[in-house]
Amino acid sequence: MIFALEEKVVALEERVMTDILTGLKTRRYFKDECERLLKGIVRSKGHVSVLFIDIDHFKRVNDTLGHEAGDDVLRRVAETLTKHVRPLDTVARWGGEEIVVSLPNATESQAHVSAERLRKAVSEITFPQYPDLKVTVSVGVASTAISPFGFDHLLFAADKAMYAAKHSGRNKVVCFGDFDK
Ligand code: GH3
Ligand code: MG
Ligand code: MG
Repeated sequence: MIFALEEKVVALEERVMTDILTGLKTRRYFKDECERLLKGIVRSKGHVSVLFIDIDHFKRVNDTLGHEAGDDVLRRVAETLTKHVRPLDTVARWGGEEIVVSLPNATESQAHVSAERLRKAVSEITFPQYPDLKVTVSVGVASTAISPFGFDHLLFAADKAMYAAKHSGRNKVVCFGDFDK
C-alpha cells in the first residue's frame, strides 16, 4: 500500500518536473535547481551562469505553417539544445518559445562559448517536411560573477541580454556583462 503510494508520488513529481510538449524540465524545476546551485557556490566561491534563449520570429512559423509545425519546431529545438549542453547543465522550458539553461561552474565567458555552440546548432537544424524553414534563436548570457544577487536577478539579467541580442539583429548571443558598455 505505502509502496504503491510512493510510486505514485514519484510519477507525479516526474510530471511536475517535465514539460509535456518538449520533454524539457519545467520552470519550477529550473528555479529549484538554480537555487540549489546558488546555495552551493556561496560555499565553494564558484560560478553559475544561465542562458535565456528565445526563438526568433516564432509567430511566423505558426502563422505560415500552422500550430502543429510550430510544436514540431519547439520539440526539435529542445532536442538540439539538450544534445549540445554538458551533462550537468539543465535545459528547461521557461514558457512559450523561451528556453533557459543553467551552467554550473561556468564563468560568463565560458557560458558565452556554450551559447554560441547552441545558437549555431539550432541554425543548422533541417526540417525534411519544410525544406525552406530556417530557425534561429537569440541568446542572453548572465553569470553570478556579474550579477551576484540571486536567481530572479540572474534570470532578469539574462533576459535583458537576450533582448539586446534581438535588437542587434537576432540569431545572436549577448552577455549581460558586455551589452551596455
Ligand atoms: P521575436 O523574434 O521577437 O521573439 O518574435 P516572436 O514571433 O518569436 O515573438 P512573439 O512573442 O511575438 O511570438 C511568440 C509566439 O510563440 C506566439 C505564440 O503563438 C507562440 N507559441 C508559444 N507557445 C507555443 C506552443 O506551445 N506551440 C506553438 N506552436 N506556438 C507557441
Ligand atoms: Mg518570446
Ligand atoms: Mg520569440
